[in-house]
Amino acid sequence: MRKAIAILSILLFVLALHATSYALSGNIVVDGKVVNYNVPDVSITVDGNPFNTYGNPPLILDGNTIVPLRSIAQGLGASVNWDGTTQTITITKEKVFKFFIGKNYATVDGNQVQLPAPARLINYDTSYVPMRFLFESLGYDVKWIGDKYLIQVTSKTPDPQTSNNVNITSFSSTYANGVYTVTLKADGPLVYQKGILTDSSGVRVYFDFDNAINAVTNKQISINQGGLNMAYIGQNQLQPAITRFVVSMSSSLLYTITQSQDKKEFDISFNIGSPSQASNNGPLIYIDPGHGGSDPGAIGIGGIHEADIALAIGLKLKTLLDNGGFRTMMSRTTDTYVGLYDRPDQANSAGADAFVSIHCDAFDSPSANGTTVLYYPNGYNGDTRDDKTFAQIIHDNLMQEINTTDRGLSERPNLVVLNQTKMVAVLVETGFVTSPTDAQLLTDDNFQWKVAQGIYNGIVQYFNELKSGAIKSTIS
Ligand SMILES: [Zn+2]
Repeated sequence: MRKAIAILSILLFVLALHATSYALSGNIVVDGKVVNYNVPDVSITVDGNPFNTYGNPPLILDGNTIVPLRSIAQGLGASVNWDGTTQTITITKEKVFKFFIGKNYATVDGNQVQLPAPARLINYDTSYVPMRFLFESLGYDVKWIGDKYLIQVTSKTPDPQTSNNVNITSFSSTYANGVYTVTLKADGPLVYQKGILTDSSGVRVYFDFDNAINAVTNKQISINQGGLNMAYIGQNQLQPAITRFVVSMSSSLLYTITQSQDKKEFDISFNIGSPSQASNNGPLIYIDPGHGGSDPGAIGIGGIHEADIALAIGLKLKTLLDNGGFRTMMSRTTDTYVGLYDRPDQANSAGADAFVSIHCDAFDSPSANGTTVLYYPNGYNGDTRDDKTFAQIIHDNLMQEINTTDRGLSERPNLVVLNQTKMVAVLVETGFVTSPTDAQLLTDDNFQWKVAQGIYNGIVQYFNELKSGAIKSTIS
């Protein structure tokens, strides 16, 4: 008996720990008949992002997982039509699929195919069909993760074994000394044909990369300076695979193409000059992109490296500061290793006026996300800097530019870059590389510019207030 109670309490503990939810338990109506339903909630992710079907969650009936047809088909870009008199649902995406309530077959372009379970009408008005058939019809791969009650849906990608395609894995831009450069990187040599299109909207120079799969998540970069409008990339066709890369501009501009020796990197550069060549005699800002070289920092979703993101944001911040009349110094401008103590030491010996370290967060669970600004506690160990005011201003300006979860400020007495620096210092955890939503943003060139702009705006406000006497750099 005692043993039974012990086992029961362990069981209850395990159940509580897993926190399985049963939001839908109770009676549901299946094809007009009331059925008692008591199965854990099933969730869906599409390419790593939660896909919410709101009031109509996936169901497991008679061992088959079925999903609401309309919300999924529409969400994944198909058109949906319901004919109430014949109880037929038609969805169109490349092919025409017809489902019939109560029938365990469907038609694809008029040809009958067997379903593992019939199409159902749930709670009188929502049609449900077997999940695998639906997602595969819409051009996706499906995995059922049984222990999580998760339907994991991913875009179909061409099988790399059966093709000798190269994957374009990186699409980014830099702007320094009046030269704007867009860079593509691939896992094999990039071979291209180029062309030019001119119409009333301007000029587009394009490059068609042969046997190339576009594997980047950020598909466009807004430029909007020096006559350059935007750069974008897309899969023009799959067989043979051609990826088209386009730079649009108001009128024809000269450019230079550079390729690395192995042809895996492709750069196009435009000499557009500096829009606001201010004389740089302002405060000296030390920009510290975290990690680098042999230290990649946190590794996140899709293998992204914290060090790469920190550097990309740091270089953008440098561009903004250089153009805004600040003097700048960076702990690194390439993917190289810099010692932890070297960073504050360099800033101290250069007499920098502010220190900005750029990092990304990481956590075991993909649900952790958001932005945090870290600083050394005011007055701690006799420190006289007012780091809190600096951190608050950076934080407030940054959160006006981006829409990540605001995790606020955090006091961190033990971080070397914060406790060894002699000037005001912050460490910005821009987002979580382990969060699907944050990771997508962090690798996006436009988002990186927004982060840089937010930090830049904060630095401008801080030094303006310092100059006007509204604040001081030390505690009184
Ligand atoms: Zn870090």
